[in-house]
Amino acid sequence: MQNTEYSVPSKKSIALVAHDNRKPDLIAWCQRHRDRLLHHSLVATGTTGHKLADALGLQITSLISGPMGGDQQLGALIAEQKLDLLIFFWDPMNAQPHDPDVKALLRLAAVWNLPVACNESTADFMFSSPLLDNPHKRIVPDYQSYLAERV
Ligand code: PGA
Repeated sequence: MQNTEYSVPSKKSIALVAHDNRKPDLIAWCQRHRDRLLHHSLVATGTTGHKLADALGLQITSLISGPMGGDQQLGALIAEQKLDLLIFFWDPMNAQPHDPDVKALLRLAAVWNLPVACNESTADFMFSSPLLDNPHKRIVPDYQSYLAERV
């Protein structure tokens, strides 16, 4: 498939997700970056979103809980180009019952060239980028020309 450029706005749509053992770490990370997060639209899987809203008073759209379909909802948002960043503190030390959903989410992020942070260090790098608060272009698969060629 060919690629094209997608214009990412300065106000980003940021997805926040953490597995249970990593939720305290994500809350702490969001606390450190709260002021910058306030400039963007935030979306999260259900439990993560409710905990972040309680702990930080952030305005955040909470989807269905991850194992109940929330990871797949985020995957759909990626495929619709409605997400600009994914911060997903997944747990590398425990098996997850919804591992296929987790894999699917990370796979779609790779397909759509979405910036993904799976730990604090990467999330810090992401948030120190000038791209965070500025418009920029992202290379994405050119699905429209793919369709035009096949129909
Ligand atoms: P949760 O889902 O925020 O509802 O806990 C996260 C996940 O495990 O995918």
